[in-house]
Amino acid sequence: MTHLVQINHIHKTFGNTAVLQDVSLTVQPGEFVSLLGPSGCGKSTLLRIIAGLEHQDSGDVYIGDRRVDGLAARDRNVAMVFQNYALYPHMSVRDNIAMPLMMDRMGLWARQPMVMGWWPGNRSALHEIDQLVRGVSDSLQLSTLLHRKPGQLSGGQRQRVALARAMVRDPSIFLMDEPLSNLDAKLRVEVRNELADLHQRLGASFLYVTHDQNEALSLSNRVAVMDKGRILQMDSPQRLYESPATLAVARFIGTPMINTWEVSLDAEGEFQDFSGSQRCGAERSGQLTLGLRPDHLTVAQAGVFEYSVDRQAQVVVRRCENQGPEWILQLQTMTSPTVGLQARLSNRRLSSVPATGDHITIGWRLADVMAFDHQGHRIDLTWRPPSRMTL
Ligand code: ADP
Repeated sequence: MTHLVQINHIHKTFGNTAVLQDVSLTVQPGEFVSLLGPSGCGKSTLLRIIAGLEHQDSGDVYIGDRRVDGLAARDRNVAMVFQNYALYPHMSVRDNIAMPLMMDRMGLWARQPMVMGWWPGNRSALHEIDQLVRGVSDSLQLSTLLHRKPGQLSGGQRQRVALARAMVRDPSIFLMDEPLSNLDAKLRVEVRNELADLHQRLGASFLYVTHDQNEALSLSNRVAVMDKGRILQMDSPQRLYESPATLAVARFIGTPMINTWEVSLDAEGEFQDFSGSQRCGAERSGQLTLGLRPDHLTVAQAGVFEYSVDRQAQVVVRRCENQGPEWILQLQTMTSPTVGLQARLSNRRLSSVPATGDHITIGWRLADVMAFDHQGHRIDLTWRPPSRMTL
């Protein structure tokens, strides 16, 4: 398959700091890919390298079939949308959207207001630009705002103008750097939905930088999880959640964070944790970290679990957070006081909400437990009953 964007083994340092280390990724035509990671991990630098605004120390960038490393930003046919939309405040929405086309299609003199009307060739160019601006404005519901100045728009509307200005040149890909971070919570969701809609309707391709996992997971076909200048894993949102390759990714994806606890396996693969004894299928000894998503914990109500569980433990309720449709329970295990757990339970599943200090029984399925070796790499474990029962 031809990749729309392909970057190979990119390295970048600023002074003595390695900001990107051997980063490779692809974006397919029509795909929405996010770069997700904490602030400072190198996301913007990577985007700027693809856009041609920054140069890598080594590695190469392809857009379509072309290696673009030697090309200036304006020749790469990409559109960059930043968090500060950089609209021209003195120009109308219409002129803001039209500006990139005018710069592309009309010379410096031909764009001057005094001569624009009669300059040879301008009539047909202006007509064409007008059609393109109208088309893009319609699709972004900006048609009624074309006469306004940016200062007369809401944050969401300004963001749409910035998008329209990027779209009007029909770029091969949109490169977006935290485009929603200046918006309030309600507008964020609104513009996020608009982006998702645009992606579906136009089949446009996006490479989108964010530190907000909700944004990345809800918008993207694939997400590259980054940390300290490296891509830890690039996968679909579902696989990142259900099948993280490392403990770092497991901890980064999912709110509340995955529950983890350490166990020590003996030579027969047996270990003891706050739910009693357990044995792994393969004989392996040493230290492991186990992980369990908060939504994979269930609570016994009137002594009965909603579905059959493999493991159970007694816990004390430390806090119950009502989050509207669901409850987040902060729990303390009885036998291992250092292990705190969080459970996420839908309102409908809890017939009575436990109170702080209550002792309750939680349960889970072994199939939902993930295991990571001492280097944090995910390992496949099968489970066997313990050789002796201890509770
Ligand atoms: P992110 O987008 O993930 O927040 P950035 O790519 O902006 O991260 O920055 C990665 C690292 O590179 C940070 O430590 C930042 O301070 C540093 N950095 C970015 N641009 C420059 C620059 N022009 N000069 C020096 N250091 C920079």
